[in-house]
Amino acid sequence: MGEELKERLFDKKENGWEKLDTKERENIFEFAKGYMNFLNKAKTEREFIAEATKVARENGFKDLSEYDELKTGDKVYFVNREKSMYLAIIGEEKIESGIHVIGSHVDSPRLDLKPNPLHEEGGFAYFKTHYYGGIKKYQWTAIPLSLHGVIVKANGEKITINIGEDESDPIFTITDLLPHLAQEQMEKKLKDGVNGENLQLLIGSIPFEDDKVSEKIKLNILNILNQKYGIVEEDLVSSEIEVVPAFKARSLGFDSSLVAAYGQDDKICAYTSLMAMMELENVKNTAVCILSDKEEVGSIGNTGMESHMFDYFISELLNKTGENRPNLLDKVFCYSKMLSSDVDAGFDPLYSSVSDKQNAGFLGKGISLNKYTGSRGKSMASDANAEYVAWIRNLLNKNDIKYQIAELGKVDIGGGGTIAYILANKGVDVIDCGVPVLSMHAPYEVTSKYDIYSAYKTYKAFWKE
Ligand code: MN
Ligand code: MN
Repeated sequence: MGEELKERLFDKKENGWEKLDTKERENIFEFAKGYMNFLNKAKTEREFIAEATKVARENGFKDLSEYDELKTGDKVYFVNREKSMYLAIIGEEKIESGIHVIGSHVDSPRLDLKPNPLHEEGGFAYFKTHYYGGIKKYQWTAIPLSLHGVIVKANGEKITINIGEDESDPIFTITDLLPHLAQEQMEKKLKDGVNGENLQLLIGSIPFEDDKVSEKIKLNILNILNQKYGIVEEDLVSSEIEVVPAFKARSLGFDSSLVAAYGQDDKICAYTSLMAMMELENVKNTAVCILSDKEEVGSIGNTGMESHMFDYFISELLNKTGENRPNLLDKVFCYSKMLSSDVDAGFDPLYSSVSDKQNAGFLGKGISLNKYTGSRGKSMASDANAEYVAWIRNLLNKNDIKYQIAELGKVDIGGGGTIAYILANKGVDVIDCGVPVLSMHAPYEVTSKYDIYSAYKTYKAFWKE
């Protein structure tokens, strides 16, 4: 009798892999393959947006500028400075009755080259870097690294760089001290073990052949770069080159149930929402997908979510559907719903002391909702209203999608945020909703294939509602 009552009253979150039918299991593994392939082509925000644009065009989306007017069913996108992007499918209802937004970010923690990166020291040439986002510096030494980005010449010519991904390419690395001589280093606090200025990329060692010239190794590197790309040292001033792990995305575990890859925060939610949008037709409310930049450094700047570029995009939708009138944009936001789709800290049994097990996201238990984020006394939290949480719960339940609801770590241990608050501040109902990750922000992050598919199903159901 107790067992029956328990069955009826308890909220239990089961492992998603259990009681899974063969077809669904196949779908999960197939979807993960597509995801890993995409990640290998899209390690940076620019690469992600370029690939997403390709995919969108293949699926009938057109650039905003290609439409004079928009009508129900039209598929439209807008790319902001090659680093962020908004996509929309115009719904049957008027835009003023509210839009359904899913927003993720496509930037990930990494090392950026400094504006004057190149120098030589002790027989080696180096690129100096400045880290971007929250990293544990020691994790970035002694691993294979690749270079991705653009160099823009003064005349506007843009050169795209991608070195270290192809098997025939050289890779780069940041050296670390041998244990034999690391006594002093090993006594330091972990955060001080590797100095930020020491995150210098080793890029060469052969001197230019001329006895009379100084800085021969630097010269030799510049000569190679000049021959390959037609650039001189000054051109690096107007470049954006990112140093990222040269690892490929791989299946992890004997059962291949997990994905190990760089940049899953937050390309995992960006990819799953993008794929969900590509399969949508005939939506009731206008469906909008945000792929934003600069989340890892506070969403600031004209490619970050804080910029007014998004308002501009929605205004243009209102203009081109012929709906617009003064102040209508404010109304649109007040009647809209959003999933802030960003990763969640997955429960790691090796570091269980930082999590409240009862309120943690577990890998393999499906999409993870965060009612609120923030830190300490919910400082800076974007807190979803109970009414909206109920609406989401109902949506997931009726679509038979397993979900869990979690907090990012124990009270007072730490905390974090996403782009949720930005849309919430505009008046949108927002909840954080994403995939739990292990080793978040590390060069190699771990996720469950079950959760990836769960995210994709959630996003599709949300837009279809
Ligand atoms: Mn994130
Ligand atoms: Mn992050």
